[in-house]
Amino acid sequence: MTSFHYVNDTLVAEDVALTEIANTYGTPTYVYSRADIEAAYTSFEQAFASHPHRVCYSVKANSNLAVLNILARLGAGFDIVSGGELQRVLRAGGDAAGVVFSGVGKTAAELQMALQANIACFNVESVAELDTLQSIAAQLGQVAPISIRVNPDVDSGTHPYIATGLKENKFGVSSDIAVEMYRRAATMDNINIVGIDCHIGSQITELSPLTDALAEVLQLVDGLERDGITLNHIDLGGGLGVCYKDEQPIAVEDYASAVLQTMGRHSQKLFFEPGRYIVANAGILLSKVELTKQNGDHRFAVVDAAMNDLIRPALYNAWQKVAAVELHDDPENWSVVGPVCETGDFIAHDRELAIATGDLIAVHSSGAYGFVMSSNYNSRNRAAEIIVSGSDHYCVRQRETIDDQLHLETILPD
Ligand SMILES: *Cc1c(COP(=O)(O)O)cnc(C)c1O
Repeated sequence: MTSFHYVNDTLVAEDVALTEIANTYGTPTYVYSRADIEAAYTSFEQAFASHPHRVCYSVKANSNLAVLNILARLGAGFDIVSGGELQRVLRAGGDAAGVVFSGVGKTAAELQMALQANIACFNVESVAELDTLQSIAAQLGQVAPISIRVNPDVDSGTHPYIATGLKENKFGVSSDIAVEMYRRAATMDNINIVGIDCHIGSQITELSPLTDALAEVLQLVDGLERDGITLNHIDLGGGLGVCYKDEQPIAVEDYASAVLQTMGRHSQKLFFEPGRYIVANAGILLSKVELTKQNGDHRFAVVDAAMNDLIRPALYNAWQKVAAVELHDDPENWSVVGPVCETGDFIAHDRELAIATGDLIAVHSSGAYGFVMSSNYNSRNRAAEIIVSGSDHYCVRQRETIDDQLHLETILPD
C-alpha cells in the first residue's frame, strides 16, 4: 500500500498535504507514513503466522526513535549492528529480549553492553569474535546466546555494494569454518548455542538465492544435529527487495510459502531481519526547487536536498521516483541536482517533470537508507523528519542548526 497519493492534483501523505508539511517545517524534510510502516510490518508478520517466528526490524534502515517506537508497539524484535543502535532500541521502548546483534566488527564495549542488556542473540561473524565474547561473558559471570553467521556463497543478484553472501565478502564465515566454530563454542562455559544466521544481501528480487541459502543452512543444521548440537532458531536475515522503479519485488506471501516449503519438516523458529521492506516505501524526501538553469541542451533543477541528505543516487546510482507535489501540464526533461560541490551530487537524471522555481518535489521510496546515511557534508544542516498519521503530523527530529553542527568543535588556544 502507499499513503502517498494525489488529491486534486496535490500530493498528500495519508490525510496531510505535503504543501502543509513544507509550510510548517520547511524543506528538505523526510516524511514517513505511520500507516505504511505498520502495514508493511504487519504483512511480514502475518505471512509467517503458521510457523513460529520473530521479525527483527533491521534498525540501520531507519533508526529514528519514533519509527522504532511504532515497531516496538507492534511487538517487533530488532536487528542491530552497533551499540548505538541498541541504545536507540531501548530508548524507543524496544525489548532487549527481542534483539539480535549482527556485524563483522563488534567492539568489546559493544559486546559488554549487549550482554548486560540481555539481548536474544549475538550473530557471531568470526572465530575472534567468539573468543572475545566468551571471555567478556566469563568476566561478567553471564552466558552469551549465539548463532553463527554463515556465508552460503550464493549470488543474490543485487548491486555489488549490497551483496553480502559471497564467499569473498567480509561478512560471516564459510560453512566449514562455521562447523568448527560450533564445535568450539559447544565447549565454552559462557556461550550458549541457540541458532544459525545468514544474510545474503539487500534489495533481492529473486526467490531462488534466498531459498538456496536456506537449503544450505538446513544442511548445516542437520549435520550439527548429528554431532549433538541442537539449534532452536534459523535467522534468514533481511534483503527482501522493494519497488523503486519497475522492479517486480517478491510478495511477502510468496517469500513465506517458499521458505516454509524449503523448511519441510524442520521446526526451528524462524527469525527475519527486514529493513528496506518495512520502511523504504513508507517515506519520501520533500524538497524545493531553488532555481533552474540550462547548460547547452540540458535543463537542471537545483533543489534544496543534496547528496548529504540522500546519498543513494550518488553512491549506488540508485533510481528513485521524483514527482512534482503539485501537478501541472507540459512536462519537460530535467536533471534534478543538489547544491553540493560534486558532479556526483544528483537526485535524478532524465526525468519528465512540470516544475519551476519554488515548486515542491517528492523523492519517493526514501524511507530506508535515506536520513540514516545523511551527513553534514558542505556544512549543511541535516533535514527534519516528520511522521504523518491520519490527519496529524509530528516532528520526530528537528532540523539541525549550525550550533548543532559546531557544538563539539573548538579552535586552538592562543
Ligand atoms: C542491512 C542488514 C539487514 C537489512 O537488510 P534489508 O535489505 O534492509 O532488509 C538485515 N540483516 C543484516 C545483518 C544487515 O546487515
